Parts: sequence; structure tokens; C-alpha cells
Amino acid sequence: MLRSKIRLAARKHDLSEIAASLAPYAAQQATGQGRRYPEPPPAYRSEYQRDRDRIIHSTAFRRLVYKTQVFVNHEGDLYRTRLTHSLEVAQIARTAAVALRLNEPLVEAISLAHDLGHTPFGHAGQDALNKCMRDYGGFEHNLQSLRVVDELESKYAEFPGLNLSFETREGILKHCSARNARELGALGNRFLLRRQPGLEAQLVDVADAIAYNNHDVDDGFRAGLLGLEQLRDQALFGRHYDEVHARYPALEDRRLIYEVIRRMIGYIVTDLIENTAAAIGELGLQSIDDVRIHGKPLVGFSADVLDMHAGLKAFLHENLYRHEKVRSMNEKTRAMVEVLFGFYMADPKRMPGWYRDRAVANMQSRARTVADYISGMTDRFAIAEYDRLGL
Ligand code: MG
Repeated sequence: MLRSKIRLAARKHDLSEIAASLAPYAAQQATGQGRRYPEPPPAYRSEYQRDRDRIIHSTAFRRLVYKTQVFVNHEGDLYRTRLTHSLEVAQIARTAAVALRLNEPLVEAISLAHDLGHTPFGHAGQDALNKCMRDYGGFEHNLQSLRVVDELESKYAEFPGLNLSFETREGILKHCSARNARELGALGNRFLLRRQPGLEAQLVDVADAIAYNNHDVDDGFRAGLLGLEQLRDQALFGRHYDEVHARYPALEDRRLIYEVIRRMIGYIVTDLIENTAAAIGELGLQSIDDVRIHGKPLVGFSADVLDMHAGLKAFLHENLYRHEKVRSMNEKTRAMVEVLFGFYMADPKRMPGWYRDRAVANMQSRARTVADYISGMTDRFAIAEYDRLGL
């Protein structure tokens, strides 16, 4: 008796109910391009919620907590890591997705997966690994994120990888060379045909930039690498600084900075939502395919905000990412990745079994496997391994 009551009280996932709340040009499960290995639909979740859940349960997702965004993991506990960055991207993208009546779980899944292929030590690690892989097809973190969810997360009985939906994989693969695109079948086609991904994928791409531009101001200030005076010269920061300072003249710097950042995020996300809604509204799009064949991305800022946002990005490049302190750390970690790569190429038996077994066929597959192994490392694991091996 009790059992049947519980069963009646549980709500099954209702496709038509969800579809009715979405815009016609949003990604829809019913018209989606499905999974590489067909599976029965889940009862209580949408397909995109299932994708999100598989990503959260993946090993690569757990590793993000010990991977660098800008500051190496051991430099301090308060800086962003890839994990907190991914959560901030998801927060921003979900807010905009709901406002634009796009598919929120899909946006969340793409956000949480978008950095899964990142190496340890941020861009320095990726540059080093790409250099090591020069003769073996190169290394690109974006393509690696796809490789992680398609192949390297090997845990399900019936298929390799996480077997995610096409739309989630489409969002993960933000860019791709023509050479690599040719090997990716349907997923690579858009790069060859110069088409766009769905709006959910476009949205996460912009949310990624919003998240790091803003949190890097916070982290850079916290680290003492960016000063208030410099930041005030930036249009986006400066206008919000003036507002906050006029209203709260006695506010201490730490709170003031945070108040400015929260206003900057609110301001640009609002602009993004309104500008995108206006761009979409003019076109009368009827489906996600209309989005895909449109000549350019539709998710974006107004011209003014685009300018200010690009200005802040350029400022961070010049003053934070190329700061002497960041650069000297980057040089150390870059060298570490190169030495680790050379070591495992010479002696692949020193890798754990799963990688060791895959590194036997030829130098090409050995190099790819070594790159898979190293790119999966967290910052602290790579440092510990480097020390342990006496390199
Ligand atoms: Mg990112």
C-alpha cells in the first residue's frame, strides 16, 4: 500500500512538459542527435541531466579541484581552481539559459565538462605538452576534453567513455582544426562547413570568458599582482568602482573589490541576455538547426560591453598572465611537463597499467598515451611524480 503511494507521488520525467517551457530554437531532447551508443531513456531525468550527472561522477571532474586556473594549486587555498571556475561558468550560463528559455541542464553539462581536458599548470602545461606532441598530432585541451568524455573515462560496462549526447559533445568541442574535424564525423562537420553550434554551446563559451575575466581580477588583486589604481583605469571596472566608492566611501578594499566584481558580472550578464534576446527575436528562428546554419554566433554582448570586456581581457593578459611572478612559475612548470614527457616516452612501463598497456603499439600511440597520462595529472600529482622519479 505504502509502496504504491510512493510510486504515485514520484514524478516521471515528462518530455512534453519540459519542451513547452523551452524556446523553439533551444536544444530539445526529442529532436536531439542522440548518443553514439543508444541507451534506453532515463525515467526521472532528461538526457541532458543524465549527461550532467555522468560528468559530475567522472574521475576527470574530481581532478579539477587540484588543477590550476592561473595560480598553481599550492600557491594558496583561496584562488580559483578549474573546479570552482567550472562551477562559476555553470552558474552564469544557467542564469542566462533560463532567461533565454534555453536548455538549462544541457548548459550545465557543457559548463561542467568544458575544462575536463586541461593539463596541470594551466596554459603553461598545455603549451608544453603541445610542444612535446609536435610530431604526434599536437595537444589541444579542448579536443582533449572531448577525448576524456568519449574515451578516457572508462567505467561503464556497455560503452567506452561517458557516452554523452551529441549536443553536449558539440558544446565541449569549441574549436577544432580542419584536420582533426575530418576525423570526428558528424561532430567535426560544423568546422568544415563553417556552421555554428546550438545556442547552449555558444552561451557556455561566453560564460567561460565572463567567469575568468571577473574571477581573475579577484584572484590577481588577492595575490597582490594587480593594484586598485591599475584596475580603475579599466572602463568596465572603473565605472563600477566609481559607483561603489561614491556610495560607500569608507568601504575597505577587499569588500570594495568584491562589490565591484559582483556588479560587473551582473552588468555584463544582463547585457548578454538582453542583447542575445534582441538578436534572436529579429530572426524568427524555428529550431536549433536554424541556429546552426546562421552565419555567425547569436549569443553575445552589445558593442559597448564587448569593447569593455575585450579591454579587460587584454589588460589581464598584459598585467596578470604575463606578470613576472606568474611567468617564472610558468617556466618551472613548463619544464616539469617536458621532462615528465621525455621520461615516460623513454620508459612507458613507469606509467600505471591502464596507460602502460596502451603505449605499446608504436611511437605515435605511445606519445598520445603519455599525453593522456600527463594531461590527466593534477598540479600536485605532477609535482610529486617529478620529485619521486628524481627528475
Ligand atoms: Mg574555462
